[in-house]
Amino acid sequence: MKQSLILGCMIAIAAGCTTSRDSEASRAQPAAIQIMRTRFVIGETNVHALVYQQGQPSPTFINVHDDENTSVEAGVVVIDETSGRVIELVHGGQRHLRFTVDGQEYAVDPNRIFSDAGIRATLERQGEYSRAAHWAVERFARQFLERFALQRERVIVALHNTVDGNYSIESYRPGAQHAAAAALHISTNRSRFDFFYVTDQRFFDYLKQRDFNVVLQNNARVPDDGSLSVYCATKGIPYLNIETELGQLDRQIEMVRAARQMLDKFGLIKHH
Ligand SMILES: [Zn+2]
Repeated sequence: MKQSLILGCMIAIAAGCTTSRDSEASRAQPAAIQIMRTRFVIGETNVHALVYQQGQPSPTFINVHDDENTSVEAGVVVIDETSGRVIELVHGGQRHLRFTVDGQEYAVDPNRIFSDAGIRATLERQGEYSRAAHWAVERFARQFLERFALQRERVIVALHNTVDGNYSIESYRPGAQHAAAAALHISTNRSRFDFFYVTDQRFFDYLKQRDFNVVLQNNARVPDDGSLSVYCATKGIPYLNIETELGQLDRQIEMVRAARQMLDKFGLIKHH
């Protein structure tokens, strides 16, 4: 995410939370946000998770694609206004996570590593496959889930940005690339690059009612691609994904705020 914001947070912590900013006081009170850094190892490669937290660590927002920084910024702004944690996986600023095992290079999409079938498919798609690489990725995915106790969450919110000018809510129309949605609402008032992807009918109904673009995953028929959405469906954890066009910070903040209001309404945020 933006270096200046991270730096601002760190300085505020170091200074003992005494600074205040006049013009943006309501939005930029970074003093109360804590930042924790956790190291993981995949094969011979270090990756890090940065956790931004204010108050109770609920709800949990997760960013795994390291080139989708607007989404992290929006998440941090909203927990700064309210509470919760943002977990950002940091791995070289790119979409794919690159690592070496026994000197051999591999790559995976970090949103395809949460099942066996997903790990195999993403290794093959991004380069070479080996059992050693598979094992290293599986171990990392398990450690990531355990370190943050994600299987115990009431809800998981993934933060993404649409970056390629192609993937959008239109991708879920019948006959399009990602068809097989259980339900779809396309607003005439929103950018097609801004949408929610949800696994819970209640979320779909709420967001449709607020006229956001929203697609409901068909939990019975969705292929096991190892994504976090499929993992959550398997574990019975309500899940939503906030996709906003890269660089559109204000639009993403609006969507993250709406998501938070929705989770509060449905009693999915722990306040104590
Ligand atoms: Zn993404």
